[in-house]
Amino acid sequence: MRESEELYRYTLELADQFAWTADANGYITHITPTFAALIGAKAGEDLVEVWKKAVHPADFPIMLESARRAVAERRRCDSYFRLRMSDGGLRWFAARAVPLFGKNGELVRWYGITEDVHDSREAERALRDADERYRLAVLATHDVIWDYDLVNNRVVWNDATAPIFGYELGDGPTPLGWWNEKLHPDDHARVSASFGQALENGWSNWAETYRFRDASGEYRHIFDRGFIIHDDQNRSIRAVGSMSDITDRRRAEEKLQRVQAELVHVSRLSAMGALASTLAHELNQPLTAITNYMAGSSRLLAGGASNVDAVRVAIEAAEASAIRAGEIVRGLRELVARGNVRIRREELHRIVEDAAVLAFIDAKRQGVVHQVHIDPAAHWVEADRVQLQQVLINLVRNAVEAMKDLPRREITIGAVPLADGMIEVSVADTGCGLPEKIRDALFSPFHGTSPDGMGIGLSICRTIVEAHGGRIWADDAPDGGAVFRFTVPRSRRPVDV
Ligand code: ADP
Repeated sequence: MRESEELYRYTLELADQFAWTADANGYITHITPTFAALIGAKAGEDLVEVWKKAVHPADFPIMLESARRAVAERRRCDSYFRLRMSDGGLRWFAARAVPLFGKNGELVRWYGITEDVHDSREAERALRDADERYRLAVLATHDVIWDYDLVNNRVVWNDATAPIFGYELGDGPTPLGWWNEKLHPDDHARVSASFGQALENGWSNWAETYRFRDASGEYRHIFDRGFIIHDDQNRSIRAVGSMSDITDRRRAEEKLQRVQAELVHVSRLSAMGALASTLAHELNQPLTAITNYMAGSSRLLAGGASNVDAVRVAIEAAEASAIRAGEIVRGLRELVARGNVRIRREELHRIVEDAAVLAFIDAKRQGVVHQVHIDPAAHWVEADRVQLQQVLINLVRNAVEAMKDLPRREITIGAVPLADGMIEVSVADTGCGLPEKIRDALFSPFHGTSPDGMGIGLSICRTIVEAHGGRIWADDAPDGGAVFRFTVPRSRRPVDV
């Protein structure tokens, strides 16, 4: 009996648990020495008083109540409470006490075990907090979160697959193929290959944008990025990531682009409108000339075969006029047609020449002279020809307008290569110079000083130039007047054969 009692005592001393007993009056009859030292208690002391001193005041009434209930309901009593340690810190303990009753149902004794559960409770709490944080973060992002176990080829998805894609997965994981087969056929090869590459080459992260089929069969635009986790041998074993649905943003961007393209087109039409009467006049000239040359030729021919040379000269002159008229019409047709933006390798001097036909159409009559200096290294550009022409026409016509009241009227169009792979194109004039009051807002819409203009020409130029990856700005010209400059990418593509 004594031996087994001793064994029991030693066992308890070695365990993390502290044991104690108390009699029916609540006085401690036995207590593990380490525990006694911990809470400063001795055998014979009033257990309630001992607890009262050691237990955190907020936990004490709860503990007392559960003891009272245990006696009333004749069952075990479990309680959690914080104990003040000798260093002043608080630690969580769990106590389990059993009331022992006599033959007549009277309380005879308490057996109790108390255990330090602080670390596990804290760890549990930290885990719960982290879990909660993760859950809230996931809710806040509206993203579909995925967790891919490469070893078992299982992907676990969060609940967002239902509201975003309409797929009800429950808690069930899917194989990777479930995701793979929903990629848009045009994106499939690229995305699968890059994901496979990231996993094989030991990359720590991966990102792609692609289209993903939802439950209704529609494709959503997705931005997907993941982190890849490796084992000791740097083998990819797990990847965790999130898919953001960027469909709405994409659509808004596309809409904005459409609206901008529309605006660029409308502004071109309105510029043409303003040009129309000049154009009619300009076309009339070669046509009248042709008619006159032709009428003259008929007359000459009627006069006999000796006039053949004179007839040839007249016909050649008529041809030149017809070519001139044709050039104007061709330039116009291109500018008026609504085309998709097509960035291609183009010869800058051709764009400048074509733009000049229309831009300078009535400038000669106004006594404007112009020259063009294009550096040979600035010959090839990557641009949409018609849009770049539109920029040049706008700039030249503004320059002509700025010089109309001045005696000296010169425009210089230049192009030089820059070190960063761009070409800088400039249009310099000898006009009135930049107006001080709208200097900072030249390229913003509806800023202008011309009574006929709407003040959108330069903002259209900026839209076009920026769509080409360039920028546009204005400076004062050294001898009065203004210089407008913009950049376009230089073409480095090999010459097409
Ligand atoms: P608008 O069609 O009304 O001229 P723009 O956007 O083309 O609108 O030009 C805005 C304003 O910028 C013009 O009204 C003018 O005041 C100024 N500006 C543009 N080009 C020149 C220039 N070459 N010299 C001086 N001022 C200019």
